[in-house]
Amino acid sequence: MVFEGYERPLSSWLNREFYRGEKLDCLTIILKSGGCAWSRCLMCGYRTFRFPPISEEELGLRMRAQLRWIQENYRDSHFDMVKIFTSGSFFDPAEVPPEVRRKAAELFRGKLVIAETRPEYVNRDVLEDFISVIDEGVWDIPLYVAMGLETTDDAIREKSIGKGFDLESYRKAVDRAHSSGAGVKSYLLLKPPFLTEGEAIADMKKSIREASRWSEIVSMNPCTVQSGTEVEQLWRKGAYRPPYLWSILEILIGAEGHLLCDTVGAGTQRGAHNCGECDRELTQAIKDYTLSGERAPLTSAWEKGCRCMVEWEFVKREERPYCMPLTR
Ligand code: SF4
Ligand SMILES: [Zn+2]
Repeated sequence: MVFEGYERPLSSWLNREFYRGEKLDCLTIILKSGGCAWSRCLMCGYRTFRFPPISEEELGLRMRAQLRWIQENYRDSHFDMVKIFTSGSFFDPAEVPPEVRRKAAELFRGKLVIAETRPEYVNRDVLEDFISVIDEGVWDIPLYVAMGLETTDDAIREKSIGKGFDLESYRKAVDRAHSSGAGVKSYLLLKPPFLTEGEAIADMKKSIREASRWSEIVSMNPCTVQSGTEVEQLWRKGAYRPPYLWSILEILIGAEGHLLCDTVGAGTQRGAHNCGECDRELTQAIKDYTLSGERAPLTSAWEKGCRCMVEWEFVKREERPYCMPLTR
């Protein structure tokens, strides 16, 4: 029996996004899919948001139904940009059947599309085909491939995240994306587990410098504690703390170009946080900076300071990495 009904995406919303000095109306959609083929990253809570094993035909029907829901619930004239997430890789044909990808391209023709995927699914023919459908000549780069590089350090990506690909495979995917006419958006993860606050800041600064060479857009995601993850287990044992908001400010203020920064969960124990008193103001400053490209909200929050800055300085200076025994 094949599904023929109504299906809502996991989530969808309209907001504004900064793009090349402009604020664009953006539709973000999170589609329920066949699920991430990797499903092993220590901080990822999206692994469970997937259909149970179903036939490719049914998967196609259920995903097309979600696109229909989007079409019925959002007016095309209300957004210029679309960000497409699945709980994995939009360009993995086993996760998102090719006919669904094509339907999405037809639905978002003329829009600036940002679609998330792992590097192994960045395929030149697939991207060229997708671009040929969405491109109406409005944008010089109509498609951005968004990849969760997380860090440019292979050891940290392997040991602290379990991402399952190296910098070399990401760089090859960047080349394939660029040669097909797509741009690249790279996500970097601030403070994966097993790093001290100071190590996390240093890793992020280096990763931003390096990732900016290969990507048109860089977005820093402070690590959050998502349910059902290994990071949550560590956090419950007191072995993990998300980054301080001060660390985010230090990185954003010192960065050469403009970065996007995700503030999901900021100010809570499961997200980047400070002492509780200054969190709202700092989170707002980060949001204002991300949307405007202006550093002023960050520098004024920095100069105003808070009593917890001393604690943060202390943690940065004194925190020591996990001691791992060298022998058994
Ligand atoms: S972070 Fe991305 S690649 Fe890693 S398990 Fe989650 S969806 Fe898969
Ligand atoms: Zn404070």
